[in-house]
Amino acid sequence: AIVVRDLSKAFHGRTVLDRVSCTVPAGQFVVLLGPSGCGKSTLFRCLTRLVEPDAGSVAIRGTEVTALKPAALKALRREVGFVFQQFNLVKRFSAIDNVLAARLAGTPLWRVLLRRFHARDRQLALACLDSVGLLDLAYQRAERLSGGQQQRVAIARAFAQQAELILADEPISSLDPDSSENVLQILQRAARERGFSVLCSLHQVDLAVRYADRIIALRGGRLFFDGPASAFTPELREELYRAPRP
Ligand code: ATP
Ligand code: MG
Repeated sequence: AIVVRDLSKAFHGRTVLDRVSCTVPAGQFVVLLGPSGCGKSTLFRCLTRLVEPDAGSVAIRGTEVTALKPAALKALRREVGFVFQQFNLVKRFSAIDNVLAARLAGTPLWRVLLRRFHARDRQLALACLDSVGLLDLAYQRAERLSGGQQQRVAIARAFAQQAELILADEPISSLDPDSSENVLQILQRAARERGFSVLCSLHQVDLAVRYADRIIALRGGRLFFDGPASAFTPELREELYRAPRP
């Protein structure tokens, strides 16, 4: 689980996150909603302290992230599965090498460069690619894959990592509708079948309501809604995206 308590962050004196508390339990697919600029990406970055929060705490699988020393923090980041809008794979690496390189991050570079992977690492990587439907493209270079396929490699990479946690900030923003649904189905399955904690920000409310177990919404840096997707009514949706009164 990811447990966030009273998280606050300001940039140049302007509050972006205002005492946000929320939990992403293991086995749940949680979608983060909110208008542009409400603080979604900042919240994601604060979870692994890519941005240092001003106040509050974050715990990931029982580890107080906010108390970690730099080396332990780096180790934690290597275990978390990140999925971003821009795919961020190593373009010249094959799909399987992208999965392996992340799994083996922290092992000596020469081993990665010489592709001296253990057979069991290779097998696990192939199984992870298989579970996102990419077994037949395992040896294709990332740059030759479509956006949707690259995003599935990023998810396979997360499956091979140890944290059982996926942080996906707008993973479908640059995908076509079919690939988008495919990626959301895979993220939903990651939670249901693997017991992962999955946090995913989206701009598509319809898709959020259809796929999420829970919805968390931010408005102006404050928690606006936190509940089952079925409780996120059209009225709430209207209010969430209504322009703030001047
Ligand atoms: P979007 O839906 O457009 O991605 P968001 O909800 O992810 O928006 P954030 O990127 O978290 O929003 O930004 C929230 C606010 O914080 C914005 O007003 C942004 O300009 C500001 N902000 C974010 N990062 C920084 C930074 N490093 N320095 C200064 N201001 C920042
Ligand atoms: Mg953002």
